[in-house]
Amino acid sequence: MRDFSCPKCGQRLAFENSLCLNCGSALGFSLKDMALLVIAPADQGEHPGVVDSRRYRLCANLHLAECNWLVETGPVPKLCISCALTRTRPNDNDAMALPAFAAAEKAKRRLIAQLYELKLPIIGRDEDPAYGLAFDLLSSADHKVFTGHQNGVITLDLAEGDDVHRTRLRIEMDEPYRTLLGHFRHEIGHYYFYRLVSPSQEYSQRFRELFGDPDADYQAALDRHYEHGAPPGWDDRYVSSYATMHASEDWAETFAHYLHIRDTLDTAAAFGFAPAGAMCERTVLGSSGFDTIIELWLPLAWGLNMVNRSMGRDDLYPFVLPPAVLEKMRFIHTIVDEITPQK
Ligand SMILES: [Zn+2]
Ligand SMILES: [Zn+2]
Ligand SMILES: [Zn+2]
Repeated sequence: MRDFSCPKCGQRLAFENSLCLNCGSALGFSLKDMALLVIAPADQGEHPGVVDSRRYRLCANLHLAECNWLVETGPVPKLCISCALTRTRPNDNDAMALPAFAAAEKAKRRLIAQLYELKLPIIGRDEDPAYGLAFDLLSSADHKVFTGHQNGVITLDLAEGDDVHRTRLRIEMDEPYRTLLGHFRHEIGHYYFYRLVSPSQEYSQRFRELFGDPDADYQAALDRHYEHGAPPGWDDRYVSSYATMHASEDWAETFAHYLHIRDTLDTAAAFGFAPAGAMCERTVLGSSGFDTIIELWLPLAWGLNMVNRSMGRDDLYPFVLPPAVLEKMRFIHTIVDEITPQK
């Protein structure tokens, strides 16, 4: 994620801001520009970093989901690219679920911005009704919700937005890390498996070599995992114990880590903690690009962990990346590199 500033006064801003606290300008996020732009009153004209309020306004989910993304004005309020991908959400009267919905949309905007920055295809249901990407963000208050992916639809149990619930699950499942953004990055991995890997014979074959059989009996794998846990020595070959469950979970876990690393490195570069060459927009190309990413990432992750410990907090990145995991991740990098349009 980049470093944002107010185009009018230069004040530092966060990705989530919709108002400059220094000069009071109304702000909106432009995905195309990957920047926060000032939404100026009609008489001020358009300058770099400034858009006309007659042409642009904030997403219709501004209040419901605290969405600060820009949309073009029109006769009816529109949803931004990110919010429009949500197919199902709690209804407007569900006071319990709406704060969790807002938290989920906030995490999802970070996901969508990163996919856009990496130039990964974001194909919605309007373009591909059977298999396009969509999100069902559902409250599990009345019925069971299974977080997961199927045929392009990512389902999230909004209870994951509740800190107590999520932390309890994290401890119960012995996970070092559990966040909404992490869930989205994992599920989008499943989506890209079926969109990018399974249609390609070459990728499918390499997948089998690295991860195993994507079509192995899932229920049997699930039962085995919850009965026996991860096999001893799993951390030599997998990024997490959950990844040991099934080849497709290994892929999704590794994919999520690839996104964690790319985004965190990007942010670090924006703030001068890593060389500018690490930034997403200057796409690190080819398989040697992956070596660069890892060379930059390992000392950065170590340093950030030590910074967190200095504040008495848990490690920021509580994982190790053995060579076998790096080989799997290199394959993900190769796919991202090969399928995305070059500049
Ligand atoms: Zn300002
Ligand atoms: Zn929106
Ligand atoms: Zn999964």
